[in-house]
Formats: sequence, C-alpha cells, structure tokens
Amino acid sequence: MSFNIAIDGPAGAGKSTIAKTLAGKLSFLYVDTGAMYRAMAYFFLTHGIPADDESALRAACGDIYISLAYAEGTQRVLLNGTDISDQIRREEVGNMASATSGYPFVREKLLRLQQDLAKENDVIMDGRDIGTCVLPDAQLKIYLTASVRTRAKRRCLELKAKGQACDPAEIEKDIEARDYRDMHREIAPLRAAADAITVDSSEMSIEEVVREIYGLARKAGLEIGICV
Ligand code: C5P
Repeated sequence: MSFNIAIDGPAGAGKSTIAKTLAGKLSFLYVDTGAMYRAMAYFFLTHGIPADDESALRAACGDIYISLAYAEGTQRVLLNGTDISDQIRREEVGNMASATSGYPFVREKLLRLQQDLAKENDVIMDGRDIGTCVLPDAQLKIYLTASVRTRAKRRCLELKAKGQACDPAEIEKDIEARDYRDMHREIAPLRAAADAITVDSSEMSIEEVVREIYGLARKAGLEIGICV
C-alpha cells in the first residue's frame, strides 16, 4: 500500500516548498494540486471566459485535458498535451484559479487524477481539500499555516527575486481575499481535517518545518530513515 501525506493550508504558507523538499528526500512523488487548478484557470483566461460565466466555464471543461509529467523529480503540468508549468505562476492565474475552483464541474475533473496518483505512488500532495476530500485515508494530514503578514512578506521576496515589482499591502489584500474565497466556498472549502495536525510556519525556517513533518510521518508509520 502506498504512503500518502496530505498537506493543506492557505496560499503562501510554504506548502509547495516544504512538500517538494520532503518528497525529494523521501523519493516520494510530489503532487501540486494547485497547479492543476491553475492550468484550468489558464485555459479559461486565454480563452477569454470570465469567472462568473458558469455555462461557458462548464462547456470549456469538455475541451480541457490535464495531465502531469515528471522531469528529474519536478512536476510539470500539461494542458491538452502542452507543458504550461511556467505560465501558471502569475498572480492573475492564481486569482482566476481561486475564483473558478469552487465550481463542482471544475473539481470533478481533477479529483480522479489526484486519487489515482496517490493510489499508485507514495505521494506528498498539497492543496486545500486533500485531507478532507481527496485523500481522507492519508496516513498523515498536515494543516500548514502562517500569518497573513508573513505570507505576504514571503511572496514579495519571491517576486523581487524574479525582478518583479511588489506592493506588500496589495499582496496582503490579495492573500486575504483568496483565503476568504477558499475557506467560504460551498464545495471542498479550505479547512483542517478533523485528524490533521496544524503546523504554524510563521516563525519557522524551511528546514525546521521539513524536520517537523518528517518526525510526524515517522510517528504515523513511515519506515524510511533519512537525514533531515
Ligand atoms: O496553491 P495554489 O495557490 O497554486 O492554488 C491556486 C488556487 O487553486 C487556490 O487558491 C484554490 O482556490 C485552488 N485549489 C483548490 N484545491 C486544491 C488546490 C488549489 O481549490 N486542492
């Protein structure tokens, strides 16, 4: 049986960095489910479909095929066979993903793919509803969070490193709006599963969080010994 670690939490809590790092050390597959929602959002954006046009979005879903590929351990997202991993990281795409991920027909498209990956592989999967909906039987469920201020600061550093301008107040507003939408939608809202362990990364380094989650995975029955 595969060993599954679910990591949920709000935007910018460090889920993908932590999940990617730990997956690399454990030789687990890292599955970034946010990238799948972003890929769908990218399709909607490039086809000029607004987030509130439910019937056009539903119809467009029939033209979308999402798949994943792994190049040297790194997840790549394919939209209708084309690798669009580098195009989906913009704020605009993240906001569109948040605005469209509440539609049941969008979620249904991705659920089976996510569950199949976890059945066939040891995975660390991150997202919003992994512990609550996608992998309710995951051996370990983590709810990774951090203060809005910390998350905005991290996001600004990322943008600056890429040479992009950043207004911290604007980013904070974006993050708060995204959290609110993700937590208050009707279907698969962001929340900690009843059996999830909450880790607040506000005052922790990446290494500390990786060590903490690895320790929790060992307690949950993971038998792989590594140096962290
Ligand atoms: O994690 P990331 O910022 O890439 O996710 C983009 C958006 O996709 C989130 O704001 C959320 O609305 C949606 N999402 C989701 N369920 C997941 C992962 C992401 O609804 N499992």
